[in-house]
Amino acid sequence: MIVVVKAGTDGGEIRKFMAYLEGLGVSVHHSQGKYQSVLGLVGDTAEVSRESLEAHHLVEKVIPVQEPYKRANRLFHPEDTRVDIPGPDGRMRHIGGEFLGIIAGPCSVENRDQITAIAVEIKKAGAGFLRGGAFKPRSSPYSFQGLGCGGLELLLEAKKAAGLPVVSELMAIHHIELFEDVDVIQVGARNMQNFNLLRELGRCRKPVLLKRGPASTISELLMAAEYIMSGGNDTVILCERGIRSFESSTRNTLDLSAIPMLKRKSHLPVIVDPSHATGLSWMVGSMAKAAIAAGADGIMVEVHNNPEEALCDGEQAITPDSFAALMKDLEKYARIEGRVLE
Ligand code: PEP
Ligand code: MN
Repeated sequence: MIVVVKAGTDGGEIRKFMAYLEGLGVSVHHSQGKYQSVLGLVGDTAEVSRESLEAHHLVEKVIPVQEPYKRANRLFHPEDTRVDIPGPDGRMRHIGGEFLGIIAGPCSVENRDQITAIAVEIKKAGAGFLRGGAFKPRSSPYSFQGLGCGGLELLLEAKKAAGLPVVSELMAIHHIELFEDVDVIQVGARNMQNFNLLRELGRCRKPVLLKRGPASTISELLMAAEYIMSGGNDTVILCERGIRSFESSTRNTLDLSAIPMLKRKSHLPVIVDPSHATGLSWMVGSMAKAAIAAGADGIMVEVHNNPEEALCDGEQAITPDSFAALMKDLEKYARIEGRVLE
C-alpha cells in the first residue's frame, strides 16, 4: 500500500505519522521526492484500513500495490534510484538518474599483467568500473573455473593501479568476507534465484548487480531484487543479459524491451550486458548503443587484450581499441539522451 503525503507536510509530522503506521504492525519505507513524499507500507496490511488512512489529515491519497514486489516497485519510489559507488581514486561514481554506468573488463581475471593492462586501458577510454570474475560459474566442471581468491587479489591490485571501482561475481555465501574491497557484488544469471545468497546480500551494505536469469521473467527478476531489498539493502542494479529462446545464432536473445518495462515497473537502475546477450564480439557495439537508446542506465562489456587466447568467453570479448571506439559512439548517444557517461 502506498500513502502519498500532502505537499508541504514537514519532516517531523511525517516521522510521527510513520511511527503511528509502524504501530499498526507494518514496516514503512519513506521516499522523499522533489515535490512529493511517499510512504510505502509492507508486511501484513490487513489491519490497516484504507478508508481511515484516506481520512487522515496528512494523507493526499492511498494507492494499493497489486504487484508482489513492493520495495522494488516504482510506486514506492517514484523517482529513479541512483546508486552511488565511491572509487579508490576518491571520486564518487553513479549508476542511474542522469548517469550511465560503463563497466568493462575481462570475463575472468587470468593473471596480473592481463587484468592490470586491461584496467588501465579501459580507464583511459573512459570506463567508470572494472569488471573481472574470480569465481566463475561455468557450464562444464572441466572448464576454467577462475582463479578464486588469488583472482580477487589481482583484481584489487588492478583496482588500485587504475583507480577504478570493481565489480565481481559472488557465487557462495561463505566467500562474502573475501569481497570486502569489491565495490559492486555481481549475482550471476544462474544464481538469480539463489534465495539464500540474495538474503545474505540483503544484510550487506554494498551495491549488488543482479543479472536476469536466462529463463526468468521480468517479474521474477524484480522478486529477486525484492529479496535483497527486503533485507535492507536498497542498492540494487538490474542487468538484462539475454534470455533463452529458440534462436541459436546468438548465445542468448537480448530482450531490449525488458529495459523500458523494468524502468516502468521499478525505480532501480537497469543496465545491459551485450556480451553475454550475443556471444559475438562484432555485435556488442550495436547492442550497447541500442541499449542506451532504449533507456538503459549503463552497460557491462567484456574487454580482453588478447581475445583469441582468453581463458573464458574470448569470442564475445572486444579489444581495448574497439572499446575506446565504442565509448566515443556512446558519448554521442548519451548526449542525445541528455545523460552523462560514468
Ligand atoms: C559474467 O558476467 O561473468 C557472467 C557469468 O554472466 P551471466 O551470469 O550473465 O552468464
Ligand atoms: Mn563471460
